[in-house]
Amino acid sequence: MQSRYPILFTPLNLGPLTVKNRLIMGSMHTGLEEERGLRSLAAYFEERAKGGAGLIITGGIAPNFSGRGTPFAAELSLLTAALGKLQDHRRVTDAVHRHDSKIVMQILHTGRYAYHPLSVAPSRIQSPITPFKPRALSGFGIQKTIFDFGTSAWLAKKAGYDGVEVMGSEGYLLHQFVAPRTNRRTDSYGGSFENRIRLPLEVVRAIRKRCGEDFLIIYRISLLDLVDGALTWEETVQFGRELEKAGVHVFNSGIGWHEARVPTIATMVPRAAFTEVTEKFKKEVSRPVVAVNRINTPEIAESILSSGQADLVSLARPWLADPYFGVKAFENRADEINTCIGCNQACLDHIFAQKKASCLVNPEAGRELEIVLKPISGEKPRVAVVGGGPAGVSFSIAAAKRGMRVHLFEKRPVLGGLFDLARRIPGKEEFSETLRYFQVELEKVGVQVHLGTEASFEVLSQVEQKENARFDEIVIATGIRPRKLDADWAQDVRSVYYEDLLAGKVKPGDRVAIVGAGGIGFDVAKYLVSHQATRSIPLVVSVRDPALLEQRARFFQEWGITGAGERGESASELKSERTKAIYLLQRKSDRIGKGLGKTTGWIRRKELEHARVQMKSGVKYLGWGTDGFQIEVSGKAQTLSVDQVVICAGQESVRDLEKVFQEKKYRVHVIGGASVASEVDAKKAIEEGVRLAAHLNNRVGNRESGHE
Ligand code: NAP
Ligand code: SF4
Repeated sequence: MQSRYPILFTPLNLGPLTVKNRLIMGSMHTGLEEERGLRSLAAYFEERAKGGAGLIITGGIAPNFSGRGTPFAAELSLLTAALGKLQDHRRVTDAVHRHDSKIVMQILHTGRYAYHPLSVAPSRIQSPITPFKPRALSGFGIQKTIFDFGTSAWLAKKAGYDGVEVMGSEGYLLHQFVAPRTNRRTDSYGGSFENRIRLPLEVVRAIRKRCGEDFLIIYRISLLDLVDGALTWEETVQFGRELEKAGVHVFNSGIGWHEARVPTIATMVPRAAFTEVTEKFKKEVSRPVVAVNRINTPEIAESILSSGQADLVSLARPWLADPYFGVKAFENRADEINTCIGCNQACLDHIFAQKKASCLVNPEAGRELEIVLKPISGEKPRVAVVGGGPAGVSFSIAAAKRGMRVHLFEKRPVLGGLFDLARRIPGKEEFSETLRYFQVELEKVGVQVHLGTEASFEVLSQVEQKENARFDEIVIATGIRPRKLDADWAQDVRSVYYEDLLAGKVKPGDRVAIVGAGGIGFDVAKYLVSHQATRSIPLVVSVRDPALLEQRARFFQEWGITGAGERGESASELKSERTKAIYLLQRKSDRIGKGLGKTTGWIRRKELEHARVQMKSGVKYLGWGTDGFQIEVSGKAQTLSVDQVVICAGQESVRDLEKVFQEKKYRVHVIGGASVASEVDAKKAIEEGVRLAAHLNNRVGNRESGHE
């Protein structure tokens, strides 16, 4: 079969080995690396190897204790090997090699980013994102670190890895040595450029010496720092050439220090936003170069390769979203790919909360041994699902995959529920991809979808009569409705609900107060301040698409990035797009946005701050007056000169049909927002849907996700 992505699927010789395609599963910590036995990690990677990843890079594994990111983080050293880690890793590499895929272990020394008191760094300078002040490595400490990197790589080779990736970017230890901002040493590892790059070069040489010529070494080199006090572009090029001489086979691109206050992977970052800098670096070195960040479709991946920007592409989160990304692309079934929407909600936010990573759009990710959609043997249950939002659709797809006969009823003419509203928020256009995936998958697995059909006992009875069989199970996934407020001011014509605003049923006011500063209040504020409020940003499929060039230029301008390769700048102020006065209000006295996701909340707050949205907490709502909307803050009355109030005051469950069907003696399950409105979000809804489908009709069922 001729693939639509011919370069993506052309093998590439990397020196010690040839990869079957240019599609890398990039390094990402999942929390499975710390489990005993690494069985879940092996199953997780095996699924992606089966799914077409040419090369897999593991999450970061520390070469010694001080290099661990947290006290219990994974380490591969003589000590942990003696405790059985080698055999555990062998389980991982065997699983991947069964499927003609390669796997390399990333060696990550976190340096001053470590979240424990034994952290080390070139100099005793604390990072702005960790509470621990590092110890400056002594000369002996440096030699031991080099030895530990070499030993870790040697052990990785013994465990069956095809190579290692040396993490030298994102502000971790080796990067800290290279950059003047963190290296104030006066010995032979600090000061001049030659001295600062000495440690990474010696690390690479040590690995080469311990592991031989036939062991792949990838170096993750920082191409764009997004902070002050890093290498100049000329120095980066020089550093790359020295790394080549030291034995590096492949360069992976690093974009931004973790402490940089510029988004680099979140959904509001344009697709392939940083590949121009990889292209620029590729021209300067002779080894293959890998492009990274916000590459989430095979089209964009192919366009990066075909336009000569890189030799390989690395995708991390998209492999969580769809383990079969590679196979589907290869077989020209890209429309069946469950696309990563860049939300970070179940992957990075989980990791920061010390939970295992999964994926909002694919809750089976990282839980391959836990959530299993086993085909049902014998009589296939007939299931009616009421509600075509994320919970109902994900249940329907998973249940049909198991063989259940599913009818899905949605009263609106389109599927998606809150996702359909979310995709209208500027910067959340990726959510449309999930809706496309839902549609394609529902058809593929044979769910009978009844759009524009309000479910009732009578409607379902008609289907039963037609098919001459009763439904065995009813799943209520009717979601939520905006919480209606009783206050007099909320009944005023100038007070509107967010749903009507985002659905285009009411026009945005010129000066608006938003009541409620949860996730939806933030979305509405972004919608109102954005120049894009009236048109969505196209999802680009090519790096040469003028729309992408425009998006990228705008993004770079907004966040103070002056251009590909012009690096080391700190982000300047976001340029305000604001033409309207916007207030974002809440009653609690907490900081506004406290409950937002750890990895994206700061971006969303910053976007609004720079658009000069006025945020007020500890607010009491008094009502409409002659000059505007009256509130009280800290006992003082104020009038906000606005012409509209948008109410985003949370949600109420819609589960009216539950009783109806229970009374008719059906087995009824309630999932998603219909079950608990206060905690509704798409992550929970989709997971509940999939878990219910996995457990339904099992003899030993786990009913935790359904409410019968
Ligand atoms: P939410 O996060 O619960 O926020 C509701 C807001 O309304 C709060 O600010 C609350 O603050 C206020 N409120 C509650 N009752 C009120 C009342 N009677 N009168 C006035 N104000 C009231 O709900 P949401 O914003 O609707 O979000 C729903 C779910 O979707 C959440 O789980 C959220 O995480 C998720 N979501 C996430 C994102 C994301 O980007 N991660 C985006 C959208 C939605 P006070 O009580 O202090 O006034
Ligand atoms: Fe992508 Fe969101 Fe899934 Fe993370 S949780 S992999 S960002 S879709």
